[in-house]
Amino acid sequence: MKIEILGCSGSVAIGFNTTSILINGDTLIDAGSAASVLSEAAVRDIRHILLTHSHIDHIKELPFILDVMYSNHVQGVTIWGSKQTMDVLKAHVFNGLIWPEMEELKVDESVFRFACVPENEFEIGRLRVKAVEVEHIPGSVAYVVCEGDHCVIFSGDTGYVQALFDLAASYGERLKAFFIEASFPNRMHDIARITHHLTPAMIDGGIQDFLQNSPQVIAYHIKPKYLQEVLAELPKRVNAIKGGEVFNL
Ligand SMILES: [Zn+2]
Ligand SMILES: [Zn+2]
Repeated sequence: MKIEILGCSGSVAIGFNTTSILINGDTLIDAGSAASVLSEAAVRDIRHILLTHSHIDHIKELPFILDVMYSNHVQGVTIWGSKQTMDVLKAHVFNGLIWPEMEELKVDESVFRFACVPENEFEIGRLRVKAVEVEHIPGSVAYVVCEGDHCVIFSGDTGYVQALFDLAASYGERLKAFFIEASFPNRMHDIARITHHLTPAMIDGGIQDFLQNSPQVIAYHIKPKYLQEVLAELPKRVNAIKGGEVFNL
């Protein structure tokens, strides 16, 4: 599984893009920065966009990605998310005020469609995907993405939920990487709790039990302003990414 980190920051700053992670060239986790990072040809190759939730740092380039699809007559693109995420996009983004309603453009389902993630694992191309509810805003999900026996977890934005760490542990050897958000430094524990995000100390607590012979744990979604602090506080076993990295897992 090829994983390209187009952007993975918790906010925008020069050199820092918000979350968009491209898998095998055609599946995108979140739409925070793809349109401004990828070539038009690469955007045209995207067929599935998996949204973790509706916060703007995860959806802000979705209108521009769809603009590329529409103007190039690309067919068969699916935007996946929870029902809450889909409802927010339709009410507050694709509403004719912020961006056109899809009906206005006479876009039918052969061009692109919005689809709610099913409860159970589902297949998109060679990938098997499972959406798992996490503790952030209503409708927020993490994604477990598997290709053959290789699985990767993307936490999306989340507060501390032991179930997420238990889920990671349950994949055992099959889990090749666990991408987990680390938005704030430890001194901002209270802000992290209120805004439903994680700190390095919270991650440390969660991975204690299963990291003995574990997969890579990779911190992302760090706020650029706190990057150095968070990097210094992350447990030794946890790597961090800032965007631009490519993994073959
Ligand atoms: Zn975010
Ligand atoms: Zn968020």
